[in-house]
Amino acid sequence: MELDCTAVLADVWLMLDGECDDATRARLQHHMDHCSPCIEAYGIEEKIKSLLSRKCGGDRAPDSLRDRLSLEIRRSVTVTRVETTE
Ligand SMILES: [Zn+2]
Repeated sequence: MELDCTAVLADVWLMLDGECDDATRARLQHHMDHCSPCIEAYGIEEKIKSLLSRKCGGDRAPDSLRDRLSLEIRRSVTVTRVETTE
């Protein structure tokens, strides 16, 4: 399995908008296990873990978590874009 740091964010979006998906969950877990620097750089590791445990534990992710995570990702993507274009 290749590590695609951009695809991880897409997977996070999938989890935010959908239900627990084993394949998506496995990809995220795999990425966090093997590429923690990028998750740490985004600063969303704890939020992703919380999202996974809630979604996959049968609970709906609370709107507050969803909103915060959406915001973090949007900001992270923007920051990354700015850094790479300079
Ligand atoms: Zn990565």
